[in-house]
Amino acid sequence: MATGNKVKQRAKSKEQRTKGAAIFYITDKGLVLAEKLKGLYPDVKVFKFKPDTVSEFWGKHKSFIFIMATGIVVRAIAPLIKNKKTDPAVVVLDEKGRFAVSLLSGHIGGANNIAKQIADFLGGEAVITTASDVNNMPSIDLWAMENNLVIENWESVPEISARFLNKGKLKVYSDIRISMPKGFQTTDNPDSAVILITNKNNLSTHSPIHPFTHLYLRPKNLIIGIGCNSGTSASEIEDAVKGALSKNRLSFLSVQSIATIDKKGAEPGLLSFAGKYNLKINTFTPDELNSVSNVEKSEAAFKATGANAVAEPAAMLASGADKLLVRKQKIGNVTVAVAGQRAKSKEQRQGKLYIVGTGPGTIKHITPYAQNVIKESDVIVGYGTYLDLIKELTRGKEVISTGMTKEIDRCQKAVGLAMSGRTVSVISGGDPGIYAMAGLVFEILKGQRAESREQRATSGRHENYVESPMLYAPCAVSVEVIPGISALNACAARLGAPLMHDFAAISLSDRLTPWKLIEERLESAAKTDFVIVLYNPKSMGRPEHINKARKIILKHRAPETPVGIVRAAMRENESIVVTNLRDMLNYDIDMQTTVIIGNSRTFVWENRMITPRGYEKKFKI
Ligand code: SAH
Repeated sequence: MATGNKVKQRAKSKEQRTKGAAIFYITDKGLVLAEKLKGLYPDVKVFKFKPDTVSEFWGKHKSFIFIMATGIVVRAIAPLIKNKKTDPAVVVLDEKGRFAVSLLSGHIGGANNIAKQIADFLGGEAVITTASDVNNMPSIDLWAMENNLVIENWESVPEISARFLNKGKLKVYSDIRISMPKGFQTTDNPDSAVILITNKNNLSTHSPIHPFTHLYLRPKNLIIGIGCNSGTSASEIEDAVKGALSKNRLSFLSVQSIATIDKKGAEPGLLSFAGKYNLKINTFTPDELNSVSNVEKSEAAFKATGANAVAEPAAMLASGADKLLVRKQKIGNVTVAVAGQRAKSKEQRQGKLYIVGTGPGTIKHITPYAQNVIKESDVIVGYGTYLDLIKELTRGKEVISTGMTKEIDRCQKAVGLAMSGRTVSVISGGDPGIYAMAGLVFEILKGQRAESREQRATSGRHENYVESPMLYAPCAVSVEVIPGISALNACAARLGAPLMHDFAAISLSDRLTPWKLIEERLESAAKTDFVIVLYNPKSMGRPEHINKARKIILKHRAPETPVGIVRAAMRENESIVVTNLRDMLNYDIDMQTTVIIGNSRTFVWENRMITPRGYEKKFKI
């Protein structure tokens, strides 16, 4: 699946960033901590710190972790710091690992993330001082980077970011389709915008030469078709490309790639120009180039290459566009044509709906895949408490939060947003397929498909029926369910090993299931000696259910049967009780609690609850 790949690629780039980490220590304790961090970053290089040796490594590593006083680090790196575009991430730790201070390149360099990862790993605290993080607002430079937008006038970033933080909103003009973070208000009028997302230079009366007041973000969406004589130098090619773009008021920063004929794929000047700006070169055969119509043909080009033209058809083929932004310009030995990357069609912009399980508690227990999917999403839909637990992942995103009983609303909203082409994550605590949102989302999708079929069948009868693509393809949304650790996994782990034999999970909530049916299931599970996991055991509105359930189970099981009561598993206020059927009501049980009732063979050992599987019959244990 395309998105799967995208997620994987992102994950990879993050990994690469941390792969290049170097750790410096001074004391023996610092060395112990550095070695421990190899558990987090296996490829990290560890060095004993000497102030004058840091410069040898600067530029070679993407991130630096210093285990020592901040002052020593500041003095050592001060002469090496250049700018936030190129400086590496610098994180400082005390030798006990209690604090991970993000000191330099918090956003672009990734120091904030590294500090958080280390703090999570060591059980310490990340010290983050960037204002956007502190205020839970998106960071403009990070958002631009994540969306592959090049910042033209970096000098404006602090000023514009401060304005954004103070006002909570900014006017943004964009001539590409892009999902905006919270607080970016789109406008069609470039003159009223503070941020301009465009490859054009003549849009607004505010040009990038007015730093501090406006920010220009350049989408990488220009493809340059190039033809040149053999032996043309890189600088001549560069001048020709820059000249053609500036004459047509297009930004060089928006250049994404170069396109040419296969014969020129190894032309030294072209390679060196492409290498200098990290541009990919796409090449095409003469036949491919000749298949493009509506281009200016040249006798000379045909004689030399077998292609009627090079620059124009190459740019069109590589961009997928059917017209050019700049027709062929001949400048000395070089011909240049420019095409814009074709925007994705509606079908290509297929919406995505992820139904994501965020596990029992904090970010630590969410799978890395689920974390990436959340980061990848434009919109996050969920219930307040679960969203609070994963705040760090949703910063800067559109978050739609509703009350607990509004799940139908939530799912309908999510489906609607995905159908409009957006990437949406519906968040469920635990696993999304266990007493949660996955089933509901599928029911809504199923209902919509049936509805659209019905409408299609009757549409012929309506004179003014307008064919709506949404109606005909209501499921043109890719849906993926991403599992999470359910309460039964988390609570069983906290208790020991109570689920080693067959078990039944039963929810005591009669909001959607008749109580009579719940009683019948309790009775059957108790009678057939299943270990029983009780979800939703008690709420203010139905305090008696747990007592009734206990009575039913006691008909079939001894009062000494072990019972585990786990509240808020894997959260800060977690509590774990191992008791038995007789005494269980002496303990607090609420909606954050899961109760596990052992089978007839479950035993307690060292305050752990264990259900034997039957190994004792096979081996002498
Ligand atoms: N989808 C969730 C379950 C939602 S139903 C999952 O897979 O875990 C809500 C019930 O789950 C709660 O009433 C409680 O019984 C249980 N639960 C959820 N998180 C829990 C936690 N951290 N500790 C203990 N029980 C929990």
